[in-house]
Amino acid sequence: MSPRGWAVLTLAGLGLAVLVAALVLIPWNRPPAPRADQLAALRDLPADQVERARQFRSALRPGSWAALGAGLLVALALGLTPLGSRLIELAGRPFGDHWTAQAILGGLAVVLVADLVTLPFAAWRHSVLTRWGLATNGWAGWAVDLLKSYAVSAVIGAVALLGFYTVVRLAPRWWWAFGAAGAATLVVLLSFVLPVLVEPVFNRFSPMEPGPLRTQLMDLAARDGVPVRDVLVADASRRTRAVNAYVSGFGPTRRVVVYDNLLREATDAEVTAVVAHELGHAKDRDVPVGTLTGALGAAAAVVALYLIGSWPPLLRLAGVGSVAEPRAFGLLLALVTVAGLVFAPAQALMSRRVEARADAHALALTGDPAAFESMQRRLSSVNLSDPDPPRWEYLYSASHPSTVERIAAARAYARKAG
Ligand SMILES: [Zn+2]
Repeated sequence: MSPRGWAVLTLAGLGLAVLVAALVLIPWNRPPAPRADQLAALRDLPADQVERARQFRSALRPGSWAALGAGLLVALALGLTPLGSRLIELAGRPFGDHWTAQAILGGLAVVLVADLVTLPFAAWRHSVLTRWGLATNGWAGWAVDLLKSYAVSAVIGAVALLGFYTVVRLAPRWWWAFGAAGAATLVVLLSFVLPVLVEPVFNRFSPMEPGPLRTQLMDLAARDGVPVRDVLVADASRRTRAVNAYVSGFGPTRRVVVYDNLLREATDAEVTAVVAHELGHAKDRDVPVGTLTGALGAAAAVVALYLIGSWPPLLRLAGVGSVAEPRAFGLLLALVTVAGLVFAPAQALMSRRVEARADAHALALTGDPAAFESMQRRLSSVNLSDPDPPRWEYLYSASHPSTVERIAAARAYARKAG
């Protein structure tokens, strides 16, 4: 069989693996959150708070969608016209057109151009967040964060680009197989080192101060059978007023992080509800499971790029001879961008199901639906999230159940628990 035949077979296998992993590992049966309870929850929220959140979301919406559109257009312009390949040639020229210069500098130049086109929308978003009092870091802080994220992306991007095009040179017929394995490995590695190498670039983390709340949270984790060395506090207040918490990493890098804002704004019972939700993520191994499905998806993406990218009309549009040459990186980026937009709703749906399970875990662990509900109200009012967002937007991009869904789930739980 030809490498192409093997690639088709591999892609089918990986596609099946992603599908099976999603079917088996995603909790498709969500706990009940009846619409009647959702509407009642919506009525119970202060009308002015709901109105304020909706106005804020309306203010953000045009820029968010315009950024998405501009990102897509620039990716298509770089990938489906010779613009991208010319830019990459230009980046390699001062270095005698050496392939490593084309691969690394050219690849980063293409990404940078795409980023610069969406930069005005990001700046505009920051101005809205500042006007509404959510952003606290000012323009200098915003610019520093931006440069830091460019630097982090450049380092990771340079390693990935050099690795990828080295593989292409060493195995010109089978690069897609090694590339798929490499992409999967990179996803696992990044998820593992993110909390210790990348997150500290943006925030300071300190162990939670000893006291009754910390003792209570550590007891909660012990009772839950989730070994937690510490609850870390992130200095999120340096850039936002928003309250949040998350788990990241796995194995020795796993950590539960709460925003300093959360400790300042919320009651102890509410913080407990948030941490109980995060313990749910840890207990159900949501990070390693997400990493595994992400790794399978990345491997499938590389094989799909090899197959789609060898379609002659696409190569003609991009002005390249093969998808595997560094000059074709714009085409790869265009295909990845389109795929990202196409798969966004499926990813959001899986994320919402996982989040609903963590909510159910929090309710069962704390047995305190009242605190859970007041925590949801606080999240919504401080973060200015629309408690019951437009359906299409929710289906396309919501990573979490809506505020009214989460409150309805808490009320349904309370009824069932009696
Ligand atoms: Zn969560």
